[in-house]
Amino acid sequence: MAGLNKVTVDDINVKGKRVLVRCDFNVPLKDGVITNDNRIVAALPTIKKLISDGGKVILCSHLGKPKNGPEDKFSLAPVAARLSELLGKEVKFAKDDEVVGANAKAAVAAMKDGDVVLLENTRFRKEETKNIEDFSKDLASITDVFVMDAFGSAHRAHCSTAGITDYIKETAVGYLMQKEIQYLGNAVEDPVRPFVAILGGAKVADKLNVISNLLEKCDTLIIGGGMAYTFLKAKGCEVGTSLVDLEKVDYCKEMLEKAEKLGKKLLLPVDTTIAASFPDPIDAAIEVSVVDADKIPADKMGLDIGTKTQALFAEAVKSAKTVVWNGPMGVFENPILAKGTIAVAKALADTDATTIIGGGDSAAAVVQLGFADKMSHISTGGGASLEYLEGKVLPGVAVIAEKK
Ligand code: ATP
Repeated sequence: MAGLNKVTVDDINVKGKRVLVRCDFNVPLKDGVITNDNRIVAALPTIKKLISDGGKVILCSHLGKPKNGPEDKFSLAPVAARLSELLGKEVKFAKDDEVVGANAKAAVAAMKDGDVVLLENTRFRKEETKNIEDFSKDLASITDVFVMDAFGSAHRAHCSTAGITDYIKETAVGYLMQKEIQYLGNAVEDPVRPFVAILGGAKVADKLNVISNLLEKCDTLIIGGGMAYTFLKAKGCEVGTSLVDLEKVDYCKEMLEKAEKLGKKLLLPVDTTIAASFPDPIDAAIEVSVVDADKIPADKMGLDIGTKTQALFAEAVKSAKTVVWNGPMGVFENPILAKGTIAVAKALADTDATTIIGGGDSAAAVVQLGFADKMSHISTGGGASLEYLEGKVLPGVAVIAEKK
């Protein structure tokens, strides 16, 4: 089973060793101030463990998308300050345009056991995203043990997420990675059944492989959100001006046939909330009505699942033992069109099943709607969790040693 048996920070001895931890400190910043420190807080358990084990804890991460090397606005300096506050201990920021240049090397050389140093944004080095060995070797030159704890970046084979391991013998995953792998990996590879997967969001094209893979793994696949209309079209329904990907209608037909062949339930909306046009701005008041899914007028668009569908989807979730959800059921940014997404979030909150939210907009919706603490696991990585649900092996997971 891909990724379920990795060496973790509980299995290694880091006393006196230089431990490089790849974190996900890609936090939102406004005028140099961190507006949400969730990702920093999420990294604390691994960092604290390594400090208490007497490692020399060197942290690295990317931040944003600097295009042409170093840029002040993408510096990790504010993260070092916030991390110092949260840890109650100095985190030395190794300001260094080369990331592992003279300044960083000196900072690492001066470390005592239990000290913490944060390197500068890994994307200040152009080699990083191209996984070019120069930077991987530079990182490895200040590292004895490599710990991967950045799930949100694990689907990218970059120097700091994968390349470095070519030059480091001892590797492990951190607690955050371990949790993601456990929940997402188990859900897809070895779910307690019945396993219900719920997919929504804007486009079918974004989730082709997820649909196909989950159909094989789950017992029931529920499809809502904008992507449902291409499926409804494939079933021969008139969908008015709803979001439809005409090039993917045949693909949806294939998936409907695949579900039938495999004996899986594939649930589509039976009714839909419609309006004359997409709300502008997105949260503007809007006049809506609910019609059966096969009765959408030619000049109307579907923007949320209807009331009968809410009940149908909630019923399917009720008897589940494992539920994975990715993508909102409608335009949840608008309160009038958030009802379907709220109904599904509520159904998940009410079930005893293991409930896993696969990152991105669905995670944002669950948090925004106040259901976060009712879910078993909310993934910290949108893209990475989707690739996991596609059945792909993530490069940042593959490179970490398996337990013997
Ligand atoms: P991520 O891949 O980041 O996890 P996601 O899969 O949760 O994101 P997206 O595919 O990005 O979701 O789609 C979310 C967007 O889909 C939301 O902005 C929402 O408004 C929009 N959306 C949902 N239903 C509809 C619909 N019926 N018509 C148009 N847009 C819709």
